[in-house]
Amino acid sequence: QQENRSFIQGDPEAILMCELRANDITDLHTQKEELLKTLVESGLSYANVVLEALDVSKANELRSAGLGLLGNIVGDKKSAACIEDTAVTVKDLANYIQEFSNLMKGYNQKAIYYAHAGAGELHLRPVLNLKKSEEVQLLRQITHDVALLVKKYRGSLSGEHGDGIVRSEFIKMMIGEANYRILEKIKSAFDPHHIFNPGKIVNPLPMDQSLRYEADREEPVIKTLFDFSHSQGILREAEKCNGSGDCRKLPEFGGTMCPSYRATRNEKDTTRARANALREFLTNSTQENPFDHQELKEVFDLCLSCKACASECPSSVDVASLKSEFQYQYHKANGASKSESFFAHATKYNKFASKFPKLSNFVLENGSSVVKNYYGIHSKRSLPKISSKTLQKHVQSLVKQAGKNSNKLKKIYLFLDEFIRYNELEIAGDAIELFTKLNYDVQVFQTLESGRSFISKGFLEEAKQLANDNINYLKDKISEETPLLGIEPSAILTFRDEYIKLANNPSEAQNVANHTYLIEEFIQKEIQLGNITPGQFTKAPMTIKFHGHCHQKALSNQLSSFSVLNLPENYTVTIIPSGCCGMAGSFGFEKEHYEISMQVGEQTLFPAIRKAHEEVVISANGTSCRHQIKDGTGKVAKHPITILKDALL
Ligand code: SF4
Ligand code: SF4
Repeated sequence: QQENRSFIQGDPEAILMCELRANDITDLHTQKEELLKTLVESGLSYANVVLEALDVSKANELRSAGLGLLGNIVGDKKSAACIEDTAVTVKDLANYIQEFSNLMKGYNQKAIYYAHAGAGELHLRPVLNLKKSEEVQLLRQITHDVALLVKKYRGSLSGEHGDGIVRSEFIKMMIGEANYRILEKIKSAFDPHHIFNPGKIVNPLPMDQSLRYEADREEPVIKTLFDFSHSQGILREAEKCNGSGDCRKLPEFGGTMCPSYRATRNEKDTTRARANALREFLTNSTQENPFDHQELKEVFDLCLSCKACASECPSSVDVASLKSEFQYQYHKANGASKSESFFAHATKYNKFASKFPKLSNFVLENGSSVVKNYYGIHSKRSLPKISSKTLQKHVQSLVKQAGKNSNKLKKIYLFLDEFIRYNELEIAGDAIELFTKLNYDVQVFQTLESGRSFISKGFLEEAKQLANDNINYLKDKISEETPLLGIEPSAILTFRDEYIKLANNPSEAQNVANHTYLIEEFIQKEIQLGNITPGQFTKAPMTIKFHGHCHQKALSNQLSSFSVLNLPENYTVTIIPSGCCGMAGSFGFEKEHYEISMQVGEQTLFPAIRKAHEEVVISANGTSCRHQIKDGTGKVAKHPITILKDALL
């Protein structure tokens, strides 16, 4: 949000955003001048900043992030949505807020205020620890007192959202006996047996019963291999879910969370279900190993570990990490399946196969049904090829040449991850050739392994070992001047995400992470510095549609790939508004997940690609995404680096 808050000057007590609209620019300017004059004359603000075009969206994003901040308070005190959307007429708002603040002071509360001042509605929430009985009492008292205050101003206790159980018992007081009786009659007419949504609006349940936590309980202590201390442990990470249901949003409403729910439309396959099922079992399990529950296995089964929830859920519930930890702990009690073990160790098999690529590819092609059957791979899924010996030799000669480059603009370390190294070595060749020709000193790491396959199958001890080895190896090499770049998002972004939670020395891991880039991110920075320019590339036209990797969307953003592809003067790029491609590493290979994997691809990605004209070039930076696009649409997608290398003059 640093970029989004750049319009803020000083340290304001509050920010009031006013939006102006008009049918023509002259009218808009007149309105703007009038507003500025009024603001200056009022003497109420010390800065009046005017934002236009994209900057407006940035400011709105900052505003939206407010909800995330509320949901992300670390620890047991949380913003309680008991009085979240009271509304009064705009002319009463200032007095109402003053009285509200005094009320909160009386309760020793520093409430949080944001949004919709123009409609007389502010989101207000006290911060309470509902694990403690005295604060549960406060929940009732505060809601009751605020309801009385809102009534005094003839406002609404639920100006925007529903009443729910939390506010239903105050409805009678708010609207009076006579009106309430009308509500009861309407309910009885349409739902005489009170089947629908019981306990809300009429015949309400008490607001402070059936709460999520048993008050004054003893907190369970759960040991994990991932370090969840940023959330005070795995249980509190799961407890971050506030039930808002944003993870049930369908594709037409934008965003990418949650692909499994979008495919099945079953609550069991939402982010919410996963977080809450885990919370429930970790809190109340009677098993020695609280993760050892078949129900948890089922609820996590269709999670694609896409990480969309880590960035799109307002509470940033990181279910991909929860799933890895669950798998790890579950395996302790039940062991891993043959298929899980195979995919976790895929690098080992690929490494071996790459010694005899011809023979391996022959076996993969001709004996594929045997291989697929044995390892639980769906019969319709194609298998990735092993890069040929000729290609291996070609890349080795590029590596040697790159080391000899004496006109060095900058030294960079290129990480040839396990996916590129064994299955798509041509992209490595493109990256080395591109940087060498652009005058960089490219040093190539050809033996390191990211551990992504271990992480996605819950083999966390193996992943931890790799993380520690890699950090030890890189800590004195990687710096601001000598950054680490990676081609495959799911591999390189492990250094910035999971390694911090796995490494024995998180500060060393963070230091490496600070100078680790997705290859497009680095090129984007170099473009901004003027070290790479459009003049170095073709002027021929090209139309490109780009699909970004889920982990890029969650942990970085797609603009870097967009900038790279847009660099040649006459290249026109559109980003496909797709979520997860559905492949998600091994997920789309697995017999039991293939159909769902294809359904996820059909949500947005496949139709967008099929619709593209014949000469449109499809680009995707994830190895799984390119594989899925090929299997789902028959089209070959290129990595942005390949496209940029081919565009070199
Ligand atoms: S997991 Fe879903 S319901 Fe829970 S906070 Fe996130 S978006 Fe809301
Ligand atoms: S990681 Fe992806 S699939 Fe799993 S819960 Fe989060 S959004 Fe859904």
